[in-house]
Amino acid sequence: MTVNKEEKGTVKAVGRRYKPTGPFHRIEPATPIKDEDGKLCGVTKPRDMTYIHSYGGEAPFFEGITQGKLLATRCDNPDCEFKGTVYEPFRIHCMDCLEKCTVIDITDIAKSTATVHSLIITERTGAFNTLKIPINFINVEFEGVSTILMSYLSAGTPEIGMRVVPIFRTKNPSCDITDLSFVPEGTPESELPEGFTFS
Ligand SMILES: [Zn+2]
Repeated sequence: MTVNKEEKGTVKAVGRRYKPTGPFHRIEPATPIKDEDGKLCGVTKPRDMTYIHSYGGEAPFFEGITQGKLLATRCDNPDCEFKGTVYEPFRIHCMDCLEKCTVIDITDIAKSTATVHSLIITERTGAFNTLKIPINFINVEFEGVSTILMSYLSAGTPEIGMRVVPIFRTKNPSCDITDLSFVPEGTPESELPEGFTFS
């Protein structure tokens, strides 16, 4: 079945359930692939799907970055050997005791202590990349946080140990991880990418 290109599936959350509406798989007519002599060698098969990515217990993190907040989690279980450990990326449960972690705001810690732990600059991207090429991927360290966060630098050239500050796509956010990025400390607000702010 070929469906209207403009028609896309949408989802509403009603109570604790997702209610999908419309087409989630779309197919378009194939086109023949021919050689120089006009002989058929194959076909293209245009089709796409709308993927439903549930954020579940990580939803506060993704909502936070659209509001200029960097949320992390901390294990507060008194019986856990690693009580007080702070996780960014956001972990719903402590991997040591399996108790649910407490959500905490580390925006100010990130602003005052974030540094580049390691980096990769790449021209080769995966399918459906939306980031500017070359992408300056960085792993970011925060004081008092036990894990490092994968993100990308939106200004300048990354260097190991560089002090960076978080920026947030608070205007027309994508509501995905690309709404969080970093820039070198001291970058003026006028040099931030469109839609991004410091808070
Ligand atoms: Zn724990």
